[in-house]
This record gives sequence, C-alpha cells and structure tokens, in this order.
Amino acid sequence: MKQRHFTKIVSTLGPASSAPETIKALAEAGVNVFRLNFSHGSHDAHRKNVASIRQAEKEIGRPLAILCDMQGPKLRIGTFKDDKHIELHAGDKFRLDMSPEAGDETRVCLPHPEIFKAMEKGMDLLLNDGLVRLRITDFGADYADTVTVTGGMLSNKKGVNVPGVPLPIDALTEKDKNDLQAALDMGADYIGLSFVQRPEDVLLARSLIKDRAWIVSKIEKPAALEHLDEIIRLSDGIMVARGDLGVELPSEQVPVFQKKIVRACRKANKPVIVATQMLESMVVNPTPTRAEASDVATAVFDTADAVMLSAETAAGAYPVEAVTLMNKIIMAAQESDAYRTSLKAARLPAEQTPENAITSSAWVMSETLPDAKAIVSYTVSGATAGRVSRERPYMPILCMTKSMEVARRMMLFWGVESVVCSAKDTLNEVSAQAVDYCRSLYDAEAGDKIILTAGLPFNERGNTNLLHVITVK
Ligand code: PGA
Ligand code: MN
Repeated sequence: MKQRHFTKIVSTLGPASSAPETIKALAEAGVNVFRLNFSHGSHDAHRKNVASIRQAEKEIGRPLAILCDMQGPKLRIGTFKDDKHIELHAGDKFRLDMSPEAGDETRVCLPHPEIFKAMEKGMDLLLNDGLVRLRITDFGADYADTVTVTGGMLSNKKGVNVPGVPLPIDALTEKDKNDLQAALDMGADYIGLSFVQRPEDVLLARSLIKDRAWIVSKIEKPAALEHLDEIIRLSDGIMVARGDLGVELPSEQVPVFQKKIVRACRKANKPVIVATQMLESMVVNPTPTRAEASDVATAVFDTADAVMLSAETAAGAYPVEAVTLMNKIIMAAQESDAYRTSLKAARLPAEQTPENAITSSAWVMSETLPDAKAIVSYTVSGATAGRVSRERPYMPILCMTKSMEVARRMMLFWGVESVVCSAKDTLNEVSAQAVDYCRSLYDAEAGDKIILTAGLPFNERGNTNLLHVITVK
C-alpha cells in the first residue's frame, strides 16, 4: 500500500523560508498546512507568502491549507533607558508601574492596568519567557513593588506572564482585529487565536470571522484548561501551544496536559496540533536530537492530527531538512506494529447517528479489507471525511469534494487527502470518479477494492447514509 504520512505537518513561514522556491520545496517535503505568524512580518510579506503557497499548490497538485496565527494579547513590559539590558539578581527589589518613562535597574513600565487589577500580595509575575520571576510584596492601582525570586536579564518589550490568573482581556486586540481582516482578505483557511482563556473568546472571534475561515484555538494559558471541553466544542481545531503553556505551567505538567488536550480533541473529533520546539535544535543543526525525534513520535503515537514546526522553518538554517526529518519520523512511527496498536486503542465509541454508523462501519470494512486502496468520502462539507478520520483507519482517506475551501481545510485532519471533483448525480458516476482518482493517487488496478461513503440524494449537506464497496474493473 502506498502510504503517506497520516499525521499532518504544519510549517511556519518566516525569513528563512519565504522564497517561493523554498515554499515549494517545503510542500514537496511534506507540509500540509503553512502557518503565517502575525506576531511578525508585514501584511505585504504575508500576502506574498499566500501567493507563493497558492502557486506551489498548483505546481504540486495537492491542496495546502493556510493558518494565519494572530498575536493575541501578549503582555509586555515597556522600554529601558538607552535600550539597555539590565540584570536582576535574586533578592533585588524591582518596581513595575504605569509611568511611560523608560526604565532602569529599579523600575520599568508595565502598561497593562488589567494586571494591576488582578494583583494579590505574594503573586508571581514571569518575565522574559519565564526566565525572571518576580514576587509582589506591595501594590496599588498603578504600581507594584516586587522582590526578585529568580534573577536574569531584562530588556525592551520582554513578555510578561501572570501564571494561573485569568485576566479580563479579550483574545483579540485592536491589532488582531486589523490583522484578522487582512488574513481573511488573503484567503486564510484557518485563523489561529492566541491566549484563549474563555469560551467567550472563541465566540467573539466567530462573530467576526463567520464562516470565512475555521478557528484554531491555541491552548497556552492554564485558565483555558478549566474550560477545555467547551473551548474545543466551539473551535474547529486546537493547538497545544507548548511554548507559552510551558511558561505558565511547570515544565513537568506540559506533557501531562499535552496528552489530556489531545485526548479531549480526539473525543470531540476536532483536529489537534502539537506545537513548539519539536525539532528546536534544527534551528542551528542539520539533524535533530534523539529526544526531539522521540517527542515527534510521541505525538504521532498519541494519534495527534498534526505536528508543527515554528522557528525550525521560520528562522532556522535547515527549514527543508526539518520538514524532511519530521516526515521520516512520522513514517517510521506509523509503519511500526506499536502504531497499529495505538490506533486501535485510540478509537472511541461512535455517537449514535446514521452518519457515525456509516463511518464506523467504514472502519470495520478497512479492517476486513486491509488491501483496499482507500476510504473515499464524497462530501459537501468535509464532515464525513472528518468522521472517517476520527476512526483512525490504517488506510488513506480521500476527501472527494466540489469545494476547494473544504479540500484545503481538510488538510489539518489526520490521514485525509483531498481532491476537488465535479458534481455527479448517480452512484455509478460517483464510483467511476472515485476509481479514477484511486488509479492516479494509489495505483488502483483491476480487482482492487475501494470503500466509498456518500449521501443519497447526492450533493446535499449532512445526509451521509451510504457505504459501498467498489471493485475496480
Ligand atoms: P506562538 O505560539 O509561537 O505564537 O507563541 C505557540 C506557543 O506558544 O507554543
Ligand atoms: Mn504562544
């Protein structure tokens, strides 16, 4: 069986990878979803990347999804006099206040009234990606006196995290709202929401995005973990954003929550991306560490829908190598016996609806006919291909749809490949079309079997009621 990577690859674009030929090389190496990070880069630069991705998509003949990731309410300190770097040592006193004046060794601006409102004596603030820990000894409406618990360097605009405290801040800032419009106009398939804390954050984004794109909520604040199931239910996909999550939670809790989030997404049948530092050492080295290879494989064995590269492809010295290595790690894991066991263990009881009865029966067929070439879903919205994906069959899932948007969005789902087909009205025509695609994609020949799901009457949304085994003539 010609098997491609079931677990999808998301690659972040940046200065190291924005040449059109590099984008094409990344796609050829196995990228399914490109991530444009709106924390960096101009709208023009993102627009140019979108054009290059769409061109690469045409050239390689396979849909590619675009995830535009909003910066979100990333909290930052102000600047220092003469752009100085200062060093704090354990025991040093340090003041945070609302004065816009440039800072020094004794104080710096913290331009976020919401943080002062949420303060309590003894509460910790983490600065500079969690390197510096300050404990609040006294505070008012516009200042806080702190003592340094863990020292380190501080410089202009370093990030601030308030671990474990839900802040009354919307997940979309004014910058995000502006970026969001630009991203939608560029034709984003997915919008990434950073620092989601509450279900309302997803609802607000949905009210602005409507159905123009699907929403990936990034789980990077412990507050989100308290409403995890509801946030998953309201989102179209989830990212385990281990970078910021690892600042707000102790490191040893990150793998625990990774498993928990992946499992909750599997249960809700929403695609889940495991992200950040997966092959981090490849930013500077042409090969990953053993531990990194193992980290990617763990996400694959957990049957996550996708694994993500950030700095490795955005700013690293070996972007194409990183994707190639990631693909190899996925393939090696999925060809192992242990993987077959994981897939079966990860299967969940199907909801009691006709659609789920069809897709879970398609899984039974894939086990009974393991040499079948693919499960083909003729689908209007992509939902049936998503349901087949939830079953985790050890076989390609081909989403055959009339909609380019659906074809692209399905690129985030485990095991799903997509083709944009023409509308057909009879079972014979749909079957013939499925056979044609399976001949070209999976070398189907006379005698081969293809498992087809569809809904009669054809071309209507949400009526999957047909499971059919085709024997190629
Ligand atoms: P970021 O999100 O790269 O936008 O910060 C991912 C993460 O925090 O892990
Ligand atoms: Mn983040």
